[in-house]
Amino acid sequence: MRYRTRLYIDLHLLYENVEKIRRLCPHNQILFMVKGDAYGHGMTQMVRFAVTELDIKEFGCATLGEARRLRDELPDLQFEVYVFSDTNLEFQSCADYYLHRRIIPVLSNLADLEYVLSDRDFLYFPLCLKFNTGMNRLGIMPAEVDQVISLFKKYQRKNIFHLITHFGTSSDLITSGSITERQYECFKAIKKQLLSAGIEIERSSAANSGAIEQGYALEETHIRPGLMLYGPSSLNASIRHQSLWTGRCISRLETYIISAFNVKKGDGVGYGNRTIPEEGAIGLIAIGYGDGFNGRMQAPEIYYAGHRGYIFGRVNMDMTQVFFPGIDQSQLKLTDKIFIWGHAPSEVLRFADQTGAIPYELFCGLTSRVPRLYGLDDLYGK
Ligand SMILES: *Cc1c(COP(=O)(O)O)cnc(C)c1O
Repeated sequence: MRYRTRLYIDLHLLYENVEKIRRLCPHNQILFMVKGDAYGHGMTQMVRFAVTELDIKEFGCATLGEARRLRDELPDLQFEVYVFSDTNLEFQSCADYYLHRRIIPVLSNLADLEYVLSDRDFLYFPLCLKFNTGMNRLGIMPAEVDQVISLFKKYQRKNIFHLITHFGTSSDLITSGSITERQYECFKAIKKQLLSAGIEIERSSAANSGAIEQGYALEETHIRPGLMLYGPSSLNASIRHQSLWTGRCISRLETYIISAFNVKKGDGVGYGNRTIPEEGAIGLIAIGYGDGFNGRMQAPEIYYAGHRGYIFGRVNMDMTQVFFPGIDQSQLKLTDKIFIWGHAPSEVLRFADQTGAIPYELFCGLTSRVPRLYGLDDLYGK
């Protein structure tokens, strides 16, 4: 594990982000997406804080293992947890976990639905159904609604606990006739069909961050934000300025300079001996692909004490060269922190844009060698 390279997570900023989402969506409950270890922020800590301090009661995982971990590590807390994709319902041992630990599988095909409906043990278990309205990933097809209704009749069930669909292009501008709008129209039609067959729908949700940021699909009981809770906008760079989202990045990625030295034009540096284009200084920072950086991170800007540097040459497993043109090595202090990104969301977004990544990947890519630290700096100071 690293000591001075770390992801600091400010829980007060999470509190603020949730408050901001509640102001944007005053009529919706939040289903907090914590898959991927809470987008790299540490699932257990995020859920504990959200339940005890933010009064959030529902969480979304991707895998049964993630949901089990939440139940194991937070046995004292009351919350609902959903498994969205990797449900493994076909294994009896997994089905038992859902039953006995109250983990709600998102049912995305007719076979899973029939399995749950036909099993007497699941008779009083909440049913969560996901429909494919045009993203064409997971979900029951719109053409299968009649079969869903027949199955409900056959097994004498009348209630859907949570009806879900997911948008595939909500990071684009949602306009009339856009794919997102067509998806949402399809969802509303499915809802209508189910309701008119006498099936009750307790909860429903469609909006992910991209939709929420555009104030879209808020007629449902719930919203399912992921990325925006952690700070950055999920809209594409070209339309980001149209986002309603004003949250801050709850994390900052800190590292420090291990070594600094001057270089001249024509010097070769690091693996591959990349040629230095002009005079300046190299600062070696204590982060590499063993921490979640990667070789495609070429030339993103990194700022230190007002100096603009950029990643130079190949990223190594354990360290990375940052080239600061026109400065002397004495201006790079070896013990000072360097921030790869700070709490201004523009910083992680810039790093993502400049490396051809998305913030989702940057967050999820950080390995366990980078410790996650939690605090309330923003509230109480450092
Ligand atoms: C990941 C996910 C979300 C959250 O998406 P963001 O873009 O991070 O807001 C919502 N719903 C489902 C089904 C998801 O898989």
